[in-house]
This record gives sequence, C-alpha cells and structure tokens, in this order.
Amino acid sequence: MMAGGTKKRNPSDYNARIAATLGCPPALVRLPSPPPPSGPAAVPITWETPFALDHQHLDSYGKCGLRFLYTYLLGLGGRRDETPYMRMHNAVAETVRWLDRNFDAGRAEPEGFGEAFAAAWTEHGPVDHGHAEAYRTIADEMLRFLLGLRDEEGRLPPEAMSLAVAGGSVLSRAHDVVRNADGRLVVRRVATRKAPSALLKEIEYIVLDAAAEATFGEPVVVEAVHLTGGSRLPVEIPPKKRDELRAAVVAHMSGIGAGLFAPSVGSRCPRCPHHFACPGLPGGSAVVRRPLAWGR
Ligand code: SF4
Repeated sequence: MMAGGTKKRNPSDYNARIAATLGCPPALVRLPSPPPPSGPAAVPITWETPFALDHQHLDSYGKCGLRFLYTYLLGLGGRRDETPYMRMHNAVAETVRWLDRNFDAGRAEPEGFGEAFAAAWTEHGPVDHGHAEAYRTIADEMLRFLLGLRDEEGRLPPEAMSLAVAGGSVLSRAHDVVRNADGRLVVRRVATRKAPSALLKEIEYIVLDAAAEATFGEPVVVEAVHLTGGSRLPVEIPPKKRDELRAAVVAHMSGIGAGLFAPSVGSRCPRCPHHFACPGLPGGSAVVRRPLAWGR
C-alpha cells in the first residue's frame, strides 16, 4: 500500500506488446520562440509644414498617442456638439484674442473693446438660447476680471514664443508680459476655463516658462489666469517637477517625430470619439500639410 491508501500496481504485460507495434517515436521538433514583445509599428509621417506643436498637442499625446494621431495628424477630430456654456466660452476666448491683437500698454481696455465683444458674442455666443442674457452677463464678468488685472504698470506687448525640442518646436504665447515693481519679468497665460486643481502638472506652464526664459534671456515669474472663477495664481514649479515635465516634453516630441503612437487603453476610451475606429489605421503614411499650432 502507498501512503494515502493507494495500492501500487505492476505494469500491464500488454504495455511491452503494444510498444513493439508503435515503431520509433517521432523526432521532437521545437517550435520557434515567440518574438519579444514590441510596441506598435512606427507610422510614417511626412511634415510638409514645420514640425511645430503646442502644449495641447503634447497633453493629448501624453494621454494617448493613438488619439493624438487620429485627432491632429489624420484630422479625424469630429466636431462636438457645443453647449450654450461652451459657446459662451468661445465668445470670451475670441474677445481675449482681440485684446491680444489690440494691445495698448496704457489702457487695459483698448478703444473698441465693447464693439469687439458684441461682435464676438453675435458670432460665437449662445444668442438663441433662452438664458442668453444670463450667459452674456457671466461672459462680461469674466472679461471685466481680466481687464481689472491688466490695470497695472509695466505692461509689455504679448509675445509669441517658440522652444526648439527634438528637431521641432513647441509654440507658446505669453498673453501678458509685465515688468513688475521689483524689476522681475512676469509672464501669464489666460484661459477661459476654471483653474485645474493640479496646476503644477500642466505642460502648458513648463513650456511657457522655458520658452519665455529662452526668449527674454532671464528667469521669469509664471502666472496662470483663469477667467472662470476669476483666479490669478503663481506657478512655482519645484526643480524636480520641472525636470520631469521638461523630460516629458522632449519624450513626447521625440515620439511624435519618430511616428510612435501607442494606444493608451483606459477609462477615457468610452468617451473617445475614435472608440469605434481604434486601433485601426489606414495603410501608408500621413502627410501634415497645414500648421497645427500657431502659438495660441
Ligand atoms: S479609444 Fe482609447 S486607446 Fe483608442 S484612441 Fe481613444 S483613448 Fe486611445
């Protein structure tokens, strides 16, 4: 008896007789080893326009390379239905761009501001909505907040800037440039949205910081202005975070330049406009004919 109560049996006499009829065992053929795991193949991209992007492109690429490819390089963005709230933001953003173009160092509110806002509202705002007047009041308050900030000494013209990275450039724009009373140079970006909770993680400000330092040749103070919620916040990026973000900018630009667009499957996918196409790609190469960034 074996442990556990199993009885040991002798091999059957038939085993030898059956084995004699089977001939030689076949040679053992080893299957080839599976190939080492690899990322998706590079997509050839031809840039017929300068390889220039901005922080929104890099943010998008950092979240999902494939979505960036679909949206920006293949132009499959698809237009979202715009809510009245989004249209209100569009009208404010258009007026902010008008202020940018009509900079006047001596006047926070340049001549023609009221007319410019009215035109932007008519073209972009939710004029046909039942609460149009309420939206317009909010838009007006957002712009008044911005004009109030700009009632200061030392204002210099807005500056379009470019940062050379990995064979291309990352464009940025300082909407406000101010030489403050301490002699320090302040650069600001203005956004119509609410300030994000993790401001220091935003690539937008590391690009602004690096581009402004390269453009003006001196360290700058970076500030973030958000018109929803009316905030003006300093963006003091700790050295370690700064290195991390700068490395991310270089890695993203290098990846895009090399045609690497890895999908990033996750919780964002169900709301992605490319959900049903992903991960399919047409054959051949993509050609970028029109500039993607203009330093907005
Ligand atoms: S569905 Fe997901 S993985 Fe595919 S492109 Fe969109 S975000 Fe990226």
